[in-house]
Amino acid sequence: MRRTERPIPQPGLLEIALYQGGVSNLDGRQNVVKLSSNENPLGPSPNAIAAFKETADSLHRYPSTDHLGLRTAISDVLNLDAERIICGAGSDEIIAFLCQAYAGPGDEVIHTEHGFSMYRISALAAGATPVEVREDNRVTDVDAILMAVTSRTKLVFIANPNNPTGTMVSIAELTRLADGLPNDVILVLDGAYAEFEPGYDGGASLVDTRSNVVMTRTFSKVYGLGALRVGWGYGPREIIDVLHRVRGPFNLSSAALAAAEAAMLDTDFTRQCLDQNAQDRAHLTKGLRAIGVECDDSYTNFVLARFDSPEIAKACNSALNADGLIVRPVASYKLPHALRITIGKTEDCARVLRCITSFMASQNA
Ligand SMILES: *Cc1c(COP(=O)(O)O)cnc(C)c1O
Repeated sequence: MRRTERPIPQPGLLEIALYQGGVSNLDGRQNVVKLSSNENPLGPSPNAIAAFKETADSLHRYPSTDHLGLRTAISDVLNLDAERIICGAGSDEIIAFLCQAYAGPGDEVIHTEHGFSMYRISALAAGATPVEVREDNRVTDVDAILMAVTSRTKLVFIANPNNPTGTMVSIAELTRLADGLPNDVILVLDGAYAEFEPGYDGGASLVDTRSNVVMTRTFSKVYGLGALRVGWGYGPREIIDVLHRVRGPFNLSSAALAAAEAAMLDTDFTRQCLDQNAQDRAHLTKGLRAIGVECDDSYTNFVLARFDSPEIAKACNSALNADGLIVRPVASYKLPHALRITIGKTEDCARVLRCITSFMASQNA
């Protein structure tokens, strides 16, 4: 092997564009409202905070390696097989495990046009080649995905509902996708926002009836625990077994495990958050449309507001910032004319609407 002048990273790594999180502050401004990362404005369940604090007394102890308490809570609440649940440091880690375990140099990993950036990042980190497939007016296009499958395809990632579009496809479409894929291609259904659509199981029923479908979920959105990094995956036994082999034994802290377990069990609190979100989202969507700002029906805790041009979107973002409101420009998701607005507290949504209303009025003046 030829020696080089300096250490050389693995192929693909330098192609990774660093993940851009939502901005949290504005220069020199107090009291900003952060609506840029789809966090729960009501925070986590009070039970989760109490459970987190209780772990302070045993910080010298290593955490559980099998995550039994959390897996059991998930299994009880969502009626899933606890043996086929794997927990990760955010669902990001489950996405990384899947790429690391099933894709490498020469392999292809499919994601969609406006798909979550971690799919591409994790594919590249594993040395594989990300393949982007177009969407149909901001909606996952099953036929386009099936057409993009080659003999090299190993994984297909779709978020349903999707981020940053907020749209979703039906279980019938997901089933058609699962049935159309070769048996050795894993379909990953990222259910980060699954809770927000009443009655949707995130694809768990498809996981239960297929040998190549995996669902990922997170505690970062409706459960309000983004700070603690807890996510999980649900899949066929063989795949989960493989993922456990690449998982670090202590990948979740005791505090994270305890808080997530309590959050999962507090179904009343979750229901309250979902109800409030649905109400505020409907109000914001209706208000935006009334002033000529287009948005698709959202199945999540955010709304994607579309403007006539990237310039107008930028100007609107500046107007929001000037009012202390931080939303998410999504040009890096190929939506330069749009802003993603997290559903905040009711009064925050009202402020956003007031600000965009006066911005639009100034545009039309
Ligand atoms: C927020 C989000 C996640 C969750 O990531 P965590 O690592 O669990 O915080 C996963 N997928 C999508 C599409 C998301 O928007």
